Amino acid sequence: MTPSGREANDPHGESSPAVPPAPALAVLDRLQGAGFEAFFVGGCVRDRLLGRPAGDWDVTTNARPEAVVALFPHVVPTGLAHGTVTVVSEGLPIEVTTYRVELGYSDGRRPDGVAFTAELAEDLARRDFTMNAIAWDPRRDLLVDLHGGRDDLAARAVRAVGRPVDRFREDGLRALRAVRFAAVLDLEIETETWSAIPLSLDVFRRVSAERIQVELSKILTSSRAGWGVERLGTSGLLTAFLPSFPLASLAGTCRALDRAGPSLAVRLALLVSPLGEAAPAALEGLRFATRLAGAATAMLRTSSLEPGAATEPVALRRLVATIGPDRLADTLAFHAALETPGWAALRGRIEAAGADVGPHTVRDLALDGRAVMGLLGVPPSPVIGRVLEALLVRVWQTPTGNTPETLAAWLPAVYAEVVASAGSAPSVRRGAQSGEDDGR
Ligand code: ATP
Ligand code: MG
Repeated sequence: MTPSGREANDPHGESSPAVPPAPALAVLDRLQGAGFEAFFVGGCVRDRLLGRPAGDWDVTTNARPEAVVALFPHVVPTGLAHGTVTVVSEGLPIEVTTYRVELGYSDGRRPDGVAFTAELAEDLARRDFTMNAIAWDPRRDLLVDLHGGRDDLAARAVRAVGRPVDRFREDGLRALRAVRFAAVLDLEIETETWSAIPLSLDVFRRVSAERIQVELSKILTSSRAGWGVERLGTSGLLTAFLPSFPLASLAGTCRALDRAGPSLAVRLALLVSPLGEAAPAALEGLRFATRLAGAATAMLRTSSLEPGAATEPVALRRLVATIGPDRLADTLAFHAALETPGWAALRGRIEAAGADVGPHTVRDLALDGRAVMGLLGVPPSPVIGRVLEALLVRVWQTPTGNTPETLAAWLPAVYAEVVASAGSAPSVRRGAQSGEDDGR
C-alpha cells in the first residue's frame, strides 16, 4: 500500500477524504457562493474516510428547498416535502437536502413529519449511525463530527447516534441497517447498539417488506453474507421477516453462504432453502423482483432431481434441458455451496460431456421446422415437432452433426422412425381438447 492509501484508510489521518468529483463540488460551491452552508454528508463521507469508493455525493444545506430549486438550472423535486431536491450537475445527480429534524415516529416506519432547521448539529443528530453523521466541507477542509464517527470508524464499530434502543424504536429498519453496514463495510456492531436490536423487534416487524428487501439484498451481496445472516439469526431479525425459518439450520445456511459465489440469486436461494415449500411465498412476501425470485425458486426445485441418474451424454443433456441451460451455472453453484451429495460428480460429468454447451433445444438446431417440411415435402403437423426432437437427440449423441447437411442426411431415417412410433403412440390430445361445454 502506498503511504497515501494508508492515510485514506486511517480515519485518524490528517488528510481529508479523497477528492469528490467536480460536478459534486460545483453544487457545494454554488450553494456556498450564494451565502448558504453546504456540506457533503452520510455515505460518501464515511466511504471516503474508509478509503472506499463513494456512491452518492449527498449534500446537506441550510438553504430551503425553494432556494435550492432557484439556484440550479436542472433540478428534479425528488422529495420536496422532505426537503430533498436532486440537482443534476453536469449529468451527475446530487441529492441536496435541507437541514431537518424528524417529528416523532408513531408508527416505527416513517417520521410523522419533518421540520427544517437552521442547525447542522440538529440534522446530524437525526442520522442513524455515528459514521453516517459526519459532515465534510472539502473547500474549508472541515469535518464536522459531533458524534465520534471517526473514532468509531477507527475502532471499526457501527454505533447508533444517541441511545440505540430509542433510535431503533423510532425507525425499526435501523436495526437491520446496523447489520447491513457491518456486513458490507466489514465492521462490528458496538455492544449497546447490538443489544438494542432484540428490544426493538416489535417495531421492526412493522417495517415495509420493500425496505427490508433492499437492506437484505445488500447483506446477501456483501463479502460477509454468512456473517450477516448469522447476525440476523441471533438477533431475532431473521425470524421477524422469515417467521418459518428453522434456526437449527442457521449455521449450515451461513456456511453455505460463505462458500457461495457472488450471484444474488444463488445466495437468496441458499437463504430460503430451509423454508422448503414455504420459500416461494416468502420471496414474494419480501417483494423480490419476479425474475430474481423465479431464479431462486427454480434452483430450489432442482433439489428433487436425481443427480446420480444422469450418466450418459443424452441423459446429461436432458437434465441440462430440464434445469434450463441459462440456469445451469447458478444451479451448479447453489448445490456446490450446499454440498448436495452427487452434484459435484454431476458437474464433472456435464463438463466432461460438454453438455453445458448447446445445442440444448430444437431452436438451436441448424435446421428449423420450415426447412424440415421443405426437405420432406410434407405439410405442417405435430410430426414435425417430434422429428426436430429426434434430430436433437441424434445431435446430442453426435455433436458434430449439427450442420444443415448432416441433419438433412439424417432426415429420411429419422422421419421414418417418428412416423412408425407415432402409429403405436396413444392419442392423448383428442380427448383432452373436447371439453367445450364444461358449464360455468
Ligand atoms: P449507501 O452507501 O449504502 O447508500 P448511505 O449511508 O448513503 O449508504 P442511505 O440509505 O443512502 O445510506 O442514506 C443516506 C444517509 O441518510 C445515511 O448516511 C444516514 O445519514 C441517513 N439515513 C438514511 N436512512 C436513515 C434512517 N433510517 N434513519 C436515520 N438516518 C438515515
Ligand atoms: Mg446512499
